[in-house]
Amino acid sequence: AASSQPLLDVRGLSVRFGALRAVDDVSMQVVRGGITSLIGPNGAGKSTLFNLISGALRPTAGTVLFDGVDVTGWSPHKLLRAGLARSFQITNLFVDLTVRENLRLAAQVLESGWLALRPLAASHLALARADELLEEFALQARANDLAGALSHGEQRRLEIAVALACRPRLLLLDEPTQGMSHADTADTAALIKRLAGGVSIVLVEHDVGLVMDVSDHVVVLTQGRKLAEGPPRTVRADPRVQAAYFGE
Ligand code: ADP
Ligand code: MG
Repeated sequence: AASSQPLLDVRGLSVRFGALRAVDDVSMQVVRGGITSLIGPNGAGKSTLFNLISGALRPTAGTVLFDGVDVTGWSPHKLLRAGLARSFQITNLFVDLTVRENLRLAAQVLESGWLALRPLAASHLALARADELLEEFALQARANDLAGALSHGEQRRLEIAVALACRPRLLLLDEPTQGMSHADTADTAALIKRLAGGVSIVLVEHDVGLVMDVSDHVVVLTQGRKLAEGPPRTVRADPRVQAAYFGE
C-alpha cells in the first residue's frame, strides 16, 4: 500500500564535481511523518545531496523515488508542485519584496507554475495562504515590511514559511538555525517539531543538541558517503560517528 512505502527513497545517488565525489553512492529512506536529520562535517555533501533530491543538480548515478514515483532529473518547480519543497542554507528570499509578497508569490507556484510571475493581484487563494502563514509563523506584524529589513532569525523563519506555501508533503531544511542566537535556535526547534505533525521533514543541522532532541532518525554523511544511520542515541554512541564527527 502507498502508506507503507517510504515517502522518499534515495538509491545509490552519486554526483561528481571533476575528480571530487561530492555524493558517493548514497541510499536513504524517509518514512511518512517525523523528522530525519542529515548530519556530518562541513563539506560532507549534505547540501549537495539536497540539491540532487530537490532537482537543482542532476545525479551522475542513482535514482530518487518520491512517493513511489521516479522523479530523478525532475526540475525543482515540478518537484515542488508534486509536494517536495526545500529551504536553502543561504537565504533565498526576494529582499526587495514585502514579507506578504514573498509568501503570496510562493503560494502562487502551486496554482500556476512559472505563471506565478503574473501580477500578484491575480490569486485570492495565494493571498489567503499567505495570511495563514503569517499567522502560523508569527510574522503578521512584519507583513508589510521588506524581507530585506527583517532580522536574521526572522528571515530564516520566513524562508521556512515560503517553503511551506505550496503545502508540501516533504520539506528539506538546510541548516535553518545557522547564525541564530540560542533563543532563536530553541524557537526554531519548537517550530520544526510542530511542523512535523503536518509535513515530513529532512533536516540538515549543525546543532547536535537540536538534532538529538527533534529527530526520529539520523543519517551521518562523511566525504560524500553514508557512515551510519539509526535512532539519534544509537548514532550518537556509534564509535565510527564519534571518531569522524563528534570527536574533535
Ligand atoms: P555540506 O553541505 O555537507 O557542508 P556540500 O554539499 O556543500 O557540503 O559540499 C560537498 C563538497 O562538494 C565540498 O567539497 C564542496 O566544496 C563541493 N561542492 C559543492 N558544490 C559544488 C559545485 N557546484 N562545484 C564544485 N564543487 C562543489
Ligand atoms: Mg551545506
